[in-house]
Amino acid sequence: MKTLDVAIAGGGLIGGSIALELAQAGLRVAVFDQGEPGHEASWAGAGILSPAPESLATVPMVPLAKASMALYPEFVHNVEGVSGQAVGFRPKGTLQALFSRDAARELSTVIALHHGLGLKAQPLRADDARELEPALNPEIEAAVLRPDEASVDNRALTRAVLVAAGKSGAEIFAGRQVTSIFRTGERCGGLIFSGQDEKISAKWTIIAAGTFSAQIAGVEAYAPVKPAKGQMAALRSDRVEIERVLWSDKIYLVPRNDGRILAGATVEHVGFDKQVTAAGLEHLLSGALHLAPELASARVEETWAGLRPASPDHLPILGPADLEGLLIATGHFRSGILLAPITARLIREWITGSSVSVDCEYFNPMRFADARREATA
Ligand SMILES: Cc1cc2nc3c(=O)[nH]c(=O)nc-3n(C[C@H](O)[C@H](O)[C@H](O)COP(=O)(O)OP(=O)(O)OC[C@H]3O[C@@H](n4cnc5c(N)ncnc54)[C@H](O)[C@@H]3O)c2cc1C
Repeated sequence: MKTLDVAIAGGGLIGGSIALELAQAGLRVAVFDQGEPGHEASWAGAGILSPAPESLATVPMVPLAKASMALYPEFVHNVEGVSGQAVGFRPKGTLQALFSRDAARELSTVIALHHGLGLKAQPLRADDARELEPALNPEIEAAVLRPDEASVDNRALTRAVLVAAGKSGAEIFAGRQVTSIFRTGERCGGLIFSGQDEKISAKWTIIAAGTFSAQIAGVEAYAPVKPAKGQMAALRSDRVEIERVLWSDKIYLVPRNDGRILAGATVEHVGFDKQVTAAGLEHLLSGALHLAPELASARVEETWAGLRPASPDHLPILGPADLEGLLIATGHFRSGILLAPITARLIREWITGSSVSVDCEYFNPMRFADARREATA
């Protein structure tokens, strides 16, 4: 293979979206995946597109998430147009159901928090919420409608992104495990693979190997990611119709265009284990039935688990490392489907030397190594 402009380790939604963006910018790009591209977290996710923070720790991510949300319609249009495949984008909003006796106070807190972050959120009385979503439990006390949020069929999207990247000129390789990066003088020279110790040289090397990124030698200090397991179940019911994503404090339900309703998700810190467990299913199904009781008669069509790439501070790891030519794009944790368009855009901006469209100080790949150095100084 000739020297590449860009070699990407990892062919999930993040690596695939970067490949598409860079190939469309005229660069010679190749993606190397250790398995079948698109079959890890990007396949396992739920596809909710919500820039609202899940905890205080992820508040610094809100501007990045809003920027990605704003890019989504154009991203979907491009991917569907180039690939010729539909990706199940549903810009229908999401609805958070509140059950507590103190729902009125909870409602005003949630609304104030959203408005404080510049996110649209509307308070709903229980009756109004049930008019929008008749499947909701009659015991709800109130609800929050987030009209600008959406969902996408992440399996279809990842497939289509990889097809679109290929059609745009990127080469996608399955079964190529990256073991290490290598140096050429003061620069990162490219990737080394398992097996015959083969090397690929590239002007820029991008690490997008999801939760496995820390296993690539030379990358650990920048991307100390760990797996956060999530179990999911897909239900199908002839009786229950859900229009938009529904949340409770326990679980979420995500309707797909094909009629399936996904219930998710657990968050477990149990290493690289991807087994579906009785306790995991109990959590999902009891949460689903509490939110929409008529799902009791739904068929369980599929269950699975996937591994989210979690960084120590739960924020993504994006941008150039201190080794010239090396860029990191991982640690997207619970928001990698949402953050794919902005991640691809930022990587292009860093590579082509344009100004970066979002302030990325919080996501700097040097933050963990710098913190360790300061702690030992
Ligand atoms: C249950 C669950 C629910 C989720 N729900 C949502 C949601 O609703 N909304 C949202 O925005 N996000 C959600 N996420 C998070 C989202 O799925 C991830 O953040 C995102 O998919 C990460 O994409 P990625 O491309 O970085 O990782 P991955 O999709 O895991 O891709 C990494 C790829 O790298 C490859 N690889 C690994 N190591 C190597 C190596 N050494 N050499 C070559 N290739 C390698 C892997 O084979 C894999 O294909 C969810 C995740 C889970 C598990």
